Amino acid sequence: MAELKLSETRDLTRVERIGAHSHIRGLGLDSVLEPLVESEGMVGQVKSRKAAGLILQMIREGKIAGRAILIAGQPGTGKTAIAMGIAKSLGLETPFTMIVGSEIFSLEMSKTEALTQAFRKAIGVRIKEETEVLEGEVVSISIDRPASGGAVKKTGKIIMKTTDMESHYDLGWKLIEALDKEKVQSGDVIVLDRPSGKITKLGRSSSRSRDFDVMGSKTKFVQCPEGELQKMKEVVHTVTLHEIDVINSRTQGFLALFTGDTGEIRSETREHTDTKVAEWREEGTAEIVPGVLFIDEVHMLDIECFSFLNRALENSMSPILVVATNRGMTKIRGTNQISAHGIPIDLLDRLLIITTQPYTDDDFRKIIELRCQEEDVEMKDEAKHLLSLIGCDTSLRYVIHLINPAALACLKRKGKVVEIDDIERVYRLFLDTKRSMQYLVEHQSQYMF
Ligand code: ATP
Repeated sequence: MAELKLSETRDLTRVERIGAHSHIRGLGLDSVLEPLVESEGMVGQVKSRKAAGLILQMIREGKIAGRAILIAGQPGTGKTAIAMGIAKSLGLETPFTMIVGSEIFSLEMSKTEALTQAFRKAIGVRIKEETEVLEGEVVSISIDRPASGGAVKKTGKIIMKTTDMESHYDLGWKLIEALDKEKVQSGDVIVLDRPSGKITKLGRSSSRSRDFDVMGSKTKFVQCPEGELQKMKEVVHTVTLHEIDVINSRTQGFLALFTGDTGEIRSETREHTDTKVAEWREEGTAEIVPGVLFIDEVHMLDIECFSFLNRALENSMSPILVVATNRGMTKIRGTNQISAHGIPIDLLDRLLIITTQPYTDDDFRKIIELRCQEEDVEMKDEAKHLLSLIGCDTSLRYVIHLINPAALACLKRKGKVVEIDDIERVYRLFLDTKRSMQYLVEHQSQYMF
């Protein structure tokens, strides 16, 4: 059963890897937070990325408290991409939780419960634990992952407590196998549990190393001094406050996280979690990692939810709240009042507002290029050009969604590279919103009222 769950988790990781924003690895800024034309999967939208860079600096300097960020712009202009870029720039461990405004009106839980859970999913707790490291064991390894992503290269650095290389020859193999199975980033330091072959992430690697060849893979072994070994004994996990709440509130403990059966959580459970985390912080065994909570289509929230957000922002443990909307002047849900973006004035007043602009043809072409790489689709330049032209007339989302069907159409005719004909075929098969509306107007009489 446990094994089954593990494989399901892996599959989800894979789905996430090629998800809509998986090519976004940051905001694409240089060392002085100026946007590069194309970097970290980000293209164009220079002014918004520059503003997001300044916000990033405020977050890093702890000067964002009590405020939130609003990204306003037309559909498909990269609002979600920028929010994700902010989270990625804050570090790999930064929790990123994304919800859509309308999602919180579910029958299963109250809206404030849904919002509370979303907030707590975006607050990480980094917990340090001691682990036992045996004399002569391989204690840690760091490996290189190509900057472009993809498979882990079988090169790296293994840190050992002893210098007896010969006896560790076989172990090298075991490590390399374990690395292939796990997602280990460049510079990660991990512990290998010899009997089970399980690896656990520890932290960063030491630079004192020397080359050693393991079965043809260039591998560096390092003798590990006592002090450093002590540091390596500390295993660090990051969990979210919500995960701790779930573990404490369900009889099946952490397994509840896999079943997804979280339901409503009692306020006493949350108080208990908060007290525990405060104790751990006092003892120095835990620290809070504020993450990013992104609420898309924020205009779908109602006046009660907006009051909740106002209050939640005052909390010292609040995550960084980023909201987005593509609406202009519209009614605040639950009232008859019209306001900018459908957001009440008192909340608007707390927001740092970034706007996104429509993309140029060149931006379209570059984003299409990035998505083709991400989805492993080979496409002729003329086909990419056609897609960007279609994009200017429809939307970025629409053309991104055509990439995969076009690759399948190409495969069906036993082709290897997507051509103009494949794009034309899928363009005719799948309607964009404009053509879909036009079709409905023309065929209205055939539909039920
Ligand atoms: P909506 O208003 O419909 O929610 P949005 O403004 O949030 O849309 P995104 O979902 O961020 O738009 O963008 C659509 C797609 O284009 C996504 O796959 C996104 O990752 C990609 N994309 C958008 N902007 C950029 C950019 N500047 N650089 C690279 N990729 C981008």
